[in-house]
Amino acid sequence: MKIFIRIIRVIFGIVLLAGFVYGLLTFAKAAPQSGDYREMIEDQRAGDVGRPADGTPASSGQTPGAATAPADGVEIVTPTVEPAPSPTPLPDTPAGRAAALGLPAPPQIDVSSWEFLLVNGDHSIDKYVPEQFGFLNQTISETDIQTSYSVNRSYDGAVDIRIAQPLLDMCSAAKAEGLSVYLTSCYRSYQLQAENFARVNANNGISDGKDAQGHYITMPAGCSEHQSGLCADIVDKWYPTMRAAEQRDKPLQVWLGEHCQDYGFILRFPEGKEDITGVMYEPWHFRYVGTDAAKYIMENHLCLEEFLTLYQ
Ligand SMILES: [Zn+2]
Repeated sequence: MKIFIRIIRVIFGIVLLAGFVYGLLTFAKAAPQSGDYREMIEDQRAGDVGRPADGTPASSGQTPGAATAPADGVEIVTPTVEPAPSPTPLPDTPAGRAAALGLPAPPQIDVSSWEFLLVNGDHSIDKYVPEQFGFLNQTISETDIQTSYSVNRSYDGAVDIRIAQPLLDMCSAAKAEGLSVYLTSCYRSYQLQAENFARVNANNGISDGKDAQGHYITMPAGCSEHQSGLCADIVDKWYPTMRAAEQRDKPLQVWLGEHCQDYGFILRFPEGKEDITGVMYEPWHFRYVGTDAAKYIMENHLCLEEFLTLYQ
């Protein structure tokens, strides 16, 4: 009997020992091994490889710039993402300058491009001549554009070739509305403007080309926009002289004032802007600037000088 009890004790002891050894092995496996933390960190960084170049987090659930703290207390800081652009435009930009004046953001344009050439009493283009002319029939009774001078056509129908088609389109549309259209003056050379300036001064007993209010009624040579070839004086028939008060309510002038921007043209010398343009109100003088700029200028009642200031 004693032997039997001893055997039972030995077996019990073996079972206890085996249980203890198993427990030890299980604990050792669960405990952190040397290098585990480094692997965890490397796993975290490996996740950043797939991050887009713009810095937005690959994981949408992760708060930008937040610290990730694993259970062991090792802190992983993800790079701070650039904040979204502020809705308020920077003051030293076209949009910022427009906002300061209560205007909407202006179109993105290159003001050094040809259609924004500024010509006025303070900006002479000296003896500039457009590279290539287009010649339009003065009465827009034909729809062709001649690209070489025709002796059968008045030189007054000449414009920079780049505005010939939009000018023809605008005038043709006015004609289609039943309006009479006449191009009274388009390109004028430096020499022709010098002669005009002398004649108008002599006729009015002045020498500086300005009226009693100090606004130009004729420009010195080099300072007339007509020399750029980018504009046209448009009325319903030939007039020996043109006065704003007589022309402003003509159906053609009203139509042009409402639709010119659709063809890339602006009313260049608006009423109320005389002190900025330096030129009296001219309801017949239309200048090409392209449709984006023309729509912004006409919708916001600006003159070209005001518009260009937004970009400088
Ligand atoms: Zn004019």
